[in-house]
Amino acid sequence: MTSKPQSYDAVVLGGGAAGLFYAVQAGALGLSVLVLDHASKPAEKIRISGGGRCNFTNLGTQASCFLSNNPHFAKSALARYTPTDFLNLMERHGLSWHEKTLGQLFCDQKSGAIIQMLLDEMKAVGAVLKLNTEIVSVRHGDGRFQISTSIGDIDSDRLIVATGGLSIPKIGASGLAYDLARQFGHDVITPEPALVPLTFEGAVKDQFASLSGVAAPVMAQAGQGRFEEAMLFTHRGLSGPAILQVSSYWSPGQEIGIDLFAGQSGADQLKALKREMPMKSLAKALETLLPKRLIDHLSGTGLLPDWSRLADVSHADLEALAQTLSHWRLKPAGTEGWRTAEVTRGGVDTAGLSSKTMESRTVPSLYFIGECVDVTGWLGGYNFQWAWASAYAAAQASFKSQY
Ligand SMILES: Cc1cc2nc3c(=O)[nH]c(=O)nc-3n(C[C@H](O)[C@H](O)[C@H](O)COP(=O)(O)OP(=O)(O)OC[C@H]3O[C@@H](n4cnc5c(N)ncnc54)[C@H](O)[C@@H]3O)c2cc1C
Repeated sequence: MTSKPQSYDAVVLGGGAAGLFYAVQAGALGLSVLVLDHASKPAEKIRISGGGRCNFTNLGTQASCFLSNNPHFAKSALARYTPTDFLNLMERHGLSWHEKTLGQLFCDQKSGAIIQMLLDEMKAVGAVLKLNTEIVSVRHGDGRFQISTSIGDIDSDRLIVATGGLSIPKIGASGLAYDLARQFGHDVITPEPALVPLTFEGAVKDQFASLSGVAAPVMAQAGQGRFEEAMLFTHRGLSGPAILQVSSYWSPGQEIGIDLFAGQSGADQLKALKREMPMKSLAKALETLLPKRLIDHLSGTGLLPDWSRLADVSHADLEALAQTLSHWRLKPAGTEGWRTAEVTRGGVDTAGLSSKTMESRTVPSLYFIGECVDVTGWLGGYNFQWAWASAYAAAQASFKSQY
């Protein structure tokens, strides 16, 4: 005899940032909520984020800090659950934070404190979390969802898909959200690794490997993305915040641009060096602006002329050099891929979802939230803010559809 399926107002697939936050919000509104996750621990990405201190939001959050086929899609949800709302929640739990740079807020406590806060909130509202649970299949009929799992059959009025993207498979990432989206007739924008180091091949890779560990402030550019932050040379190519940011805008085959004057006027800076150190060589004088190992590399590759006395160099030559160093063009061979990508670009096409509620436009009571949706934030706390905001929007809508 088969046992009767357990029944809930809402079943959430994925106990990560978005899934747990939906459970907190929908539970607080009185819905019975079950969260299912195949991992043995919830929200592992919160735990490993921000170097263990979770960069949980960004004070500058706005839709223009997100990539999506529809750049307006994120506006509504982001406006209705703001960074201040999350700070208020943290404050109620006695958690504190600090701003590192560019509006990025990090937890003073370990990342685990944010996970614990979400679990405590879930407990307080009676939401249930089941770990180590495989999702076998999902069916929809008679206005309800039947979820077949390794712990039995479950049925629910609503299905919230929050299984995230494909980055870091070793801690449980899977393509379930995309499979379910397709099963229910939704389009999926091809998922690609984003916020990921770029790799090079051949001689350039060898040269960069010899610079491994060197960092410099730059303005990096790929496609429509332009970011002034640090760049880091690695054994396989380039990383650091500036590169991670532009990787989200980069497509295979494209060049990226590096401005070694980090958005300042290179001509003005070189002329100032000539004024202040007329008897120095170009390479020596540049050491006040760039790391010596990078200068040696640029000299070795012929990008830097062998000027032994700046006093002898004309302003026209300095201007030409400034032009070269602010337009360093490089062609990456690829990215470090899903193994290290912080997020997934692409995902469930927003054209099939309501921007107010995250609900499917074609299957009532089916919601997609968090990273599985084609909304990808910049580096710096934006992706968690999207997880909170999209979950909040779906929870509010779930409550309204209940009554
Ligand atoms: C190393 C790293 C550092 C990061 N740092 C930051 C940061 O500081 N700030 C920031 O804003 N963002 C950061 N991010 C991005 C951020 O972690 C994600 O955007 C965010 O966690 C997405 O939330 P989510 O709930 O949509 O997905 P996730 O948090 O990925 O949660 C998805 C959940 O679904 C579960 N799941 C997946 N497949 C299945 C399946 N088939 N069956 C059952 N369960 C399944 C997973 O086990 C997981 O628990 C970082 C990401 C990484 C990888």
